[in-house]
Amino acid sequence: MNTIEISEKYLMKTYGRQPMAAASGQNCVCTDEDGKQYIDFGSGIGTNSLGYCNDAWADAVCKQVRKIQHTSNYYYTDVQAAFVQKLCGITGYQKAFLGNSGAEANECAIKLARKYSFDKYGEGRGTIITLKNSFHGRTMMTLTATGQDVFHNYFFPFPTGFAYAEANNLDDLKSKLDGTVCAVMMEMIQGEGGVCAMEKEFVQAAAKLCEENDILFIVDEVQTGVGRTGTFLASEQFGVHPNVTTLAKGLGGGLPIGCCLADEKCAEVMGPSSHGSTFGGNPVVCAGALAVLEQVSAEGFLEKVQQKAAYIREAVAKCSDVAAVTGLGLMIGIALKTKDAHDVMDKARENGLLILTAKEKVRLLPPLTISQEEIEKGLKILLPLLEN
Ligand SMILES: *Cc1c(COP(=O)(O)O)cnc(C)c1O
Repeated sequence: MNTIEISEKYLMKTYGRQPMAAASGQNCVCTDEDGKQYIDFGSGIGTNSLGYCNDAWADAVCKQVRKIQHTSNYYYTDVQAAFVQKLCGITGYQKAFLGNSGAEANECAIKLARKYSFDKYGEGRGTIITLKNSFHGRTMMTLTATGQDVFHNYFFPFPTGFAYAEANNLDDLKSKLDGTVCAVMMEMIQGEGGVCAMEKEFVQAAAKLCEENDILFIVDEVQTGVGRTGTFLASEQFGVHPNVTTLAKGLGGGLPIGCCLADEKCAEVMGPSSHGSTFGGNPVVCAGALAVLEQVSAEGFLEKVQQKAAYIREAVAKCSDVAAVTGLGLMIGIALKTKDAHDVMDKARENGLLILTAKEKVRLLPPLTISQEEIEKGLKILLPLLEN
């Protein structure tokens, strides 16, 4: 049996997988077990923010593995300290909680919001408003937070305490503020929901509404964060500084890390024993994440991301079957006029290009470190598939 057959036999079939077994990679190029090379316009799934096996990242990780691979969070490590200091410095947040995934980062945000409210107002103010068409994760709590009915199946009973407002509809959001609400949580660009950016006016009005009612404003930047959209946080481009921001996907450069960041209003809410994670803030993972932060925050790095994004967006927009190019920066949604996004994805893979889909759109999340040569190689395969 080969890799695909063994995997199909022994793994639960929770993913609709592509028939490709990845063996190795270098920056934007992934090589499969048969030696076939692909340009990867998906960074795995937005995770390999510095591409495959970035030198500085790999060195930092390997060095840490040989120094101390893990200890309990009952102790301190220098690399965890250096990482959160750098992250808070870049983002302007006061405190971080470290977990292992996006869902865990959002779990922390939800618990933090409810405790913030409980500490101040007591019980009865536990509702979290999220947006329709959102995606916040796969744990029971974050699945419930996800504002899509298709996710609210099979696993009954779901936790209570969530309400769903329409994106970009301030009146609808206002109508849901019934006195039981402790937080509003949203993505700046709905990723799994189809690469749909929020309107700036809506985001700002929602943030203001939260401030006026002492409701925490939580932004899920699990997909949009860490330079993906051309600024370190996407919320910077919307002119807001949320009380809580969650990060994951690209943060570890391909290692599992999730982070919940809190501002001065709520940084002290989570005290001893209120939350925890055995592996959260693991030294090896933090070494990798610190290497990501060092590169993404380096002078000129994000300007280059913006330039690359503009170049790809312009090239794609010219194709005759493209109805719209959505998202921001290197988080690119492509709405098609007649073609099926999954067909485009299959053909691209056959021709040596890995891309993603989101709902009915093609989705691109190329590594932030993609070179001009790799962009050209990928576009040479992609653009003809977007012509009719
Ligand atoms: C991927 C994603 C999550 C879930 O992250 P996991 O690491 O899979 O738990 C949550 N929110 C958003 C916006 C995401 O894109």
